[in-house]
Parts: sequence; C-alpha cells; structure tokens
Amino acid sequence: MRYVPFGKTGLTVSELGFGGIPLIRLNKDSAVNVLRRAHDQGITIYDTANMYLDSEEKIGMAFRGLRDKVIIASKSIRRDAAGMTEHVEKSLKRLKTDYIDLYQLHQVAREADWKTIMEPGGAMEALLQARDKGKIRHIGVTSHSLEMASKLVKIDFFSSIQFPFNFIEIAAKDELHETARQRGLGILAMKPFAGGMIDNADIAFKFLRQHPGVIPIPGFDSVEAVDQVTSFYKRENLITPSDVHLMDRYRAELGKQFCRRCEYCQPCPNEVMITQAMGYRVIANRMSPGVAVEFSRLSMESVLKCDACGACVEKCPYDLPIPDMLKSFYNLYEQHRRCLLT
Ligand code: SF4
Ligand code: SF4
Repeated sequence: MRYVPFGKTGLTVSELGFGGIPLIRLNKDSAVNVLRRAHDQGITIYDTANMYLDSEEKIGMAFRGLRDKVIIASKSIRRDAAGMTEHVEKSLKRLKTDYIDLYQLHQVAREADWKTIMEPGGAMEALLQARDKGKIRHIGVTSHSLEMASKLVKIDFFSSIQFPFNFIEIAAKDELHETARQRGLGILAMKPFAGGMIDNADIAFKFLRQHPGVIPIPGFDSVEAVDQVTSFYKRENLITPSDVHLMDRYRAELGKQFCRRCEYCQPCPNEVMITQAMGYRVIANRMSPGVAVEFSRLSMESVLKCDACGACVEKCPYDLPIPDMLKSFYNLYEQHRRCLLT
C-alpha cells in the first residue's frame, strides 16, 4: 500500500480507502474485525455518514486507542445550521472521538440545496464554527451531479470532493478531477463498483489504480473482501487487452439502464422518493433483505403514489424508464417484505 497526500489538507492517506455503508449489515464484532483487518492491511482512511445507521459507532469501537493512526471522514445531509450542529455532535459521540478529520456536506446535487447551505442559518455556518472549535479539521462535499460538483470544486470552501468514479462512470475523469487537483482538493471516488453493477473486483481496481491520487472507498463486509482488494495494491497494475475488452462488455451490457443518483428527476409532483427507491436493488444486494426493507420502507412506500405522469422521465438525462423501473423495484421490495412476514 502506498500513501499519498490528500489534496492540500496536510493529511497523508492510503491510496485505498474504506466506505462505511456495508458495516450496517454486520454485527458489532464482525464489523470491528473487518475494520481492524483493513487497518492491518494498511488502509488508513475510513468514510462513513451520519445517516449510515450504526456505521459510525462501529468505526468508533474498532479504532478506540488507534485514533491517531486513522483518518475519519463522515458527512451529514442536513442543510440548516442547527441540524448540522446536531449531526456533527452525534457523529463525534458515535465515533467516540473529539475530532473528525473530514466532515462533508452529503450529496449536494441541486442549486436550492446549495443556496440553503450558504444562507444565514445554513449548514455552512455550523461547519465553519465546528472547524473553528477543532471538532472537525476539514470540510468536504459529496455529490452525484457532475454539474454541481464541477461548480463546488471551484469554490474555496472545500478540502475534498467525493464523486462516483469507476470504469462505467468516467465523467469525472477529465474536468472534475483535474480542477480538483489544480485547486488542491483531495479526491474520494465513491461507487468503485458502480453501485453494485460491476461484480468483477479485479478489473474494477485495475481501472481505478490507473488514476493515482483518486482514492476509491469501496465498502467491505468481510475480512476476505478486505484481503482480496488490498492484495491488488501489492502487485503491479497490468491491464491486458482482455481486461479492456471485458470493461467494454460491461459498459455495453449496462448501457444507460441504471440510475446514477444525479437527482435531476426530483422533485416528483406526487412526492415519490425516486432516487432512493431506484437504489433499492443495490441496497438489497448490500444489506440483508430484512435491513433493506427497514432502511428503504419510506422511499419504497412512496412508490405507491406514482401515477406514471412521466414528469421525471423528461428530466432524466439518462432516459431511464423510471415508472417501470420503480414498479419492478417495488415488486422486489414487496417480495422481501412478504418473506419477512412468513
Ligand atoms: S412518473 Fe411517477 S415518479 Fe415520475 S414524476 Fe410522475 S408520479 Fe413521480
Ligand atoms: S432516475 Fe435518472 S434523473 Fe433520477 S436520479 Fe436516477 S439517473 Fe438521475
């Protein structure tokens, strides 16, 4: 494992990070084992979020006594100062620490969100105060919208940008990463497996390792997965013509038929939580069906309000047949829900 500067933060991080979502589906002992194995294998940066249920708590348990050996990143979806302050305090408590290295505004995709964050009483006010008090060291941002992310990296508030990046979703490669680099931001690559669409770790990381300084944060749910992915970082990165062919095949097979969570389709006039519901299949793959049903209940029940008006389809840059896809994800959710009842 190599260690690289994280933008201009002064932090040095492992070239591979750890994403905290899958910790949700592990019991505490297993989660601690996986996290400690990752640390033993050389991973030093761990990304979680206030909304990832008990993920922060498990990271706190795993690294008690090792706090100065790891870089912890968390994030909050709250847009107002009071809500952000509450989340920062909660994160500190769950992580059992008195500082968080990087605290990120979670999924800023729309102008309206950005306006709320920056106005008096907005979340930025709380983040700046938390930084002044030493509760957080750096402020970052995450987004699924290339347009918004490209704007945010040019604003001098942020130390890092987190954006999807994998061999299917390569939009960030040129302008976004380049601007972030020039302006000294650290770069975290979420969704190294395209939200579960890539099931070949070997080629996923062969692609990612071609981009040094872009830190992938795959989620890990077993020590075997940690060992597998870290083993890629112990060898030379050789990409063969058959790897390139395989990547092309994935791209061709997936085509445009998957949701990138850009949120352009929102808001729905009938208040369907489109983006969250479109992620159900991936969530169900990552978690046990029981946890997925609980985690997604609100969004999946909102699908029942869809009257197939088509307003979202017109706004989706990827031309997804959203009402049909929602219907099929709802059927899967129903199937899981019924299984739990029997
Ligand atoms: S088609 Fe359904 S989800 Fe899409 S905007 Fe209309 S009601 Fe909302
Ligand atoms: S359905 Fe389309 S517009 Fe909506 S989040 Fe997914 S990719 Fe974006």
